[in-house]
Amino acid sequence: MKSVSSRRPYRIGRSKTGLGLFATRLIRRRKFILHYTGRRLPNSIADYIDNKYMFELSKHWTMDGSSRRNVARYINHSCKPNAESDVVRGKIVISAMKNIHPGDEITYSYGANYFKSFIKPKGCRCAACSSKTAVIRSPRRVAKRRKATKRRRRTKSRR
Ligand SMILES: [Zn+2]
Repeated sequence: MKSVSSRRPYRIGRSKTGLGLFATRLIRRRKFILHYTGRRLPNSIADYIDNKYMFELSKHWTMDGSSRRNVARYINHSCKPNAESDVVRGKIVISAMKNIHPGDEITYSYGANYFKSFIKPKGCRCAACSSKTAVIRSPRRVAKRRKATKRRRRTKSRR
């Protein structure tokens, strides 16, 4: 079962919001992780294609990363990412911003424009944002849970 893929320091796995990319080995800070790949489209055409995997390369070009072969498309957004994306000579390079440990989800920031149009309307569910809301909501959640348990107990005792 050992194949080329075992040399890669990541795997696709389940994350809180669906699928994500996870480190399988230590990836050191500043190390290359993978390319975000796809077909290059002129922006004039890309503007008419509605998919969330469009990655703008420059004023003139966009990469359509919607193909399943583009493993980098599984990387989720985070407001506190551990990786970053750069356009280097027309290629999108994803590299580590800090040491990423085995089992850690690999994330990068999708950028302000993407955030505004796709993430903000639904509310960001990245680890950084959900831990913030968990702290804010926790007292209410605890109260709710208590009520639910009481209700359950009540129905039981009635039987
Ligand atoms: Zn967030």
